[in-house]
Amino acid sequence: AVAEALKIVEALADELNCPICLQDDDDDTTAAGGTWKETPCGHRFHGRCVERWLHAEGSCPMCRRQVVTKPTTPDTSSVASLRSALADIFEAYGQDVVTELQQQLPL
Ligand SMILES: [Zn+2]
Ligand SMILES: [Zn+2]
Repeated sequence: AVAEALKIVEALADELNCPICLQDDDDDTTAAGGTWKETPCGHRFHGRCVERWLHAEGSCPMCRRQVVTKPTTPDTSSVASLRSALADIFEAYGQDVVTELQQQLPL
């Protein structure tokens, strides 16, 4: 989902440095046609740098806005609904099944 979140932009003025690596166009990006990418919040980085960052962090390095939603990290409401579902499963199947499920769920 990282690639879809980013917009490819032209490399701008020479003085624009990538906020992640603090370099302007380095050899790699020049060789790749100077690919810069813009996040939905309008911040620009080397495509290579921001993709690596977003894979690790999921949010813009400049403003911390969430750029990529991480499906493996449920928000609090889905955790709550998982917990209530587990309560129902406990009633129906008992503790062993619940324990097994909890080991597989990100709770
Ligand atoms: Zn960079
Ligand atoms: Zn931003």
